Amino acid sequence: MSDLKTRHLEELRFHVRSTSRFGVVHLVDLGERVPFGQCSCEFWQFSIGPKIKELKQQNLRRYCRHVRAAKDYLADRVIDQVIAERTKKGEGEQHGTT
Ligand SMILES: [Zn+2]
Repeated sequence: MSDLKTRHLEELRFHVRSTSRFGVVHLVDLGERVPFGQCSCEFWQFSIGPKIKELKQQNLRRYCRHVRAAKDYLADRVIDQVIAERTKKGEGEQHGTT
């Protein structure tokens, strides 16, 4: 799980708190620039964003730490849901055998 403070806003949009600047929150939208996602931080705006547009470099770093944090957050939620479903199913099956 990411150690960056992440807040789910709606659908694929997140607020991720900046670690370098106190009180600053970045807006991450995983629904933009699919599959890379988009972030409001300077690093994304000036370094990642323009390069994604060009799509020239293969080994380009396509994610800032905020997009990563949002993706981690979403992945954790999906994993939790799958585990919860599995647990529910498992219980159901147990009831079936007894
Ligand atoms: Zn960012």
